[in-house]
Amino acid sequence: MRLVLASRNPNKLVELRALCGLPADFLVSAAECPGAPDPEEDADTFVGNALIKARALRDFSGEWALADDSGLEVDALGGAPGVRSARYAGEHGRDGENNALLLRNLDALGPRAPRTCHFSCALALVSPDGREFVALGQCPGTLLREGRGTNGFGYDPLFLPDGRDKTFAELPREVKCTFSHRARAAERMRPLLRSLFPTL
Ligand code: IMP
Repeated sequence: MRLVLASRNPNKLVELRALCGLPADFLVSAAECPGAPDPEEDADTFVGNALIKARALRDFSGEWALADDSGLEVDALGGAPGVRSARYAGEHGRDGENNALLLRNLDALGPRAPRTCHFSCALALVSPDGREFVALGQCPGTLLREGRGTNGFGYDPLFLPDGRDKTFAELPREVKCTFSHRARAAERMRPLLRSLFPTL
């Protein structure tokens, strides 16, 4: 028995193995299922998109599948960039352009606009016989006016997590991983995985 992750990104695979407490021979990459489809992620929620990815892989492989979807939601922008986080400034998905557009859009609301925001992560686990489980994690914070730090990716330099004095991009990866949106979603998925796969 194994669980296939709906991603070919090796960093994501290693991170989710650690966060969910899964051995390397149990949580494997979608690269192990050659020809697996890359479905369009057109849902308007993180849970919806995670389910689209997990179901597509399960339908193709006939195996248990796990998928994640995540992004940043800024309160004053009605939750944008949200599910469009990766391609906010265009399909090319360049981090620098996404960050610059986000700052411009928030600045356009004036200096008094609240800068509260949170990262969200949805994990979806689906079984070959059609059972579906989801876990959601969030990490609240504030959007800075200028980026700080060089670690991480995406919106990390602009995101100051609540209760910290360092942005996600200033924190070492191992520290970010202890309280990130992904860590919190994985924490909620762990007991479920233990009960579904007692031999783990
Ligand atoms: P994905 O779900 O991992 O593909 O992430 C979608 C997009 O959300 C990324 O391309 C980033 O723009 C943003 N994002 C998700 N998680 C993070 C994070 O931990 N730090 C910074 N940006 C993130």
